[in-house]
Amino acid sequence: MIVVKVGGSAGIDYDAVCADLAALWKAGQPVILVHGGSGETNRVAEALGHPPKFVTSPSGYTSRFTDRQTLEIFEMVYCGKMNKGLVERLQRLGVNAVGLSGLDGRIFEGRHKDSVRAVENGKVKVLRGDHTGTVERVNVDLVRLLLGAGYLPVLTPPAASYEGVAINVDGDRAAAALAVALRADALLLLSNVPGLLRAYPDESSLIPEIPADDVESYLEFAQDRMKKKVLGAAEAVAGGVRRVIFGDARAGAPISAALGGAGTVVR
Ligand code: ADP
Repeated sequence: MIVVKVGGSAGIDYDAVCADLAALWKAGQPVILVHGGSGETNRVAEALGHPPKFVTSPSGYTSRFTDRQTLEIFEMVYCGKMNKGLVERLQRLGVNAVGLSGLDGRIFEGRHKDSVRAVENGKVKVLRGDHTGTVERVNVDLVRLLLGAGYLPVLTPPAASYEGVAINVDGDRAAAALAVALRADALLLLSNVPGLLRAYPDESSLIPEIPADDVESYLEFAQDRMKKKVLGAAEAVAGGVRRVIFGDARAGAPISAALGGAGTVVR
């Protein structure tokens, strides 16, 4: 089993990802696609007059502050445009894909965090009304039901809180939780960079390999959102996933390339 997570940053070639995914699927490889949509969400939020707000926690993690209106815009883009765009591409390639959010059948479930601690102008503030959380449980039965019946699941945040409220969760960490729950052989985190770079944005500084027992010490190279990917990778390998690969989804055959050793391999 392979879990492929494709991000939502500028430059990602979704046609290339889907073509590669379809070839793998037709060759008999069980695979699940998880996706993001941050770049498009930012554009739509601006266009709707509710621009995105990002907050940085005291420990240096950046996340989207998700008030109710932001959550609704987030759902429009992630569950709508992005999810259906990927399902349509796969359908055109002859793959019977089914697109669901983490809310559907509680595929991704976690605790709702209503407030977030954020550093603003050097001071720590508590912001309330946040619809965020972290995936703690995965409905593997539903995912297996789909796979077993021949459907390729295409999954996206939001997740469901234990109370049934939609919560924005990090897609990389959701994919990691899914890979752990399914005991996946590999988790691919594809984005618009060649992998984890020692000196971002210098692409020649790619780190080819990270030992599984030392992932956290590589956090120092990751800035802002890349930190969540490194954290997701650490969680996945700690949970028994054999390898996690940070790969490039900008062109070519991104999945085959990553499985063939391109990018940053954590194992
Ligand atoms: P996606 O939405 O595609 O999953 P993110 O924007 O969440 O991607 O994270 C990938 C981004 O992290 C890259 O586009 C890059 O700007 C940034 N980044 C920060 N530090 C690094 C690093 N050391 N190596 C690679 N990318 C990094």
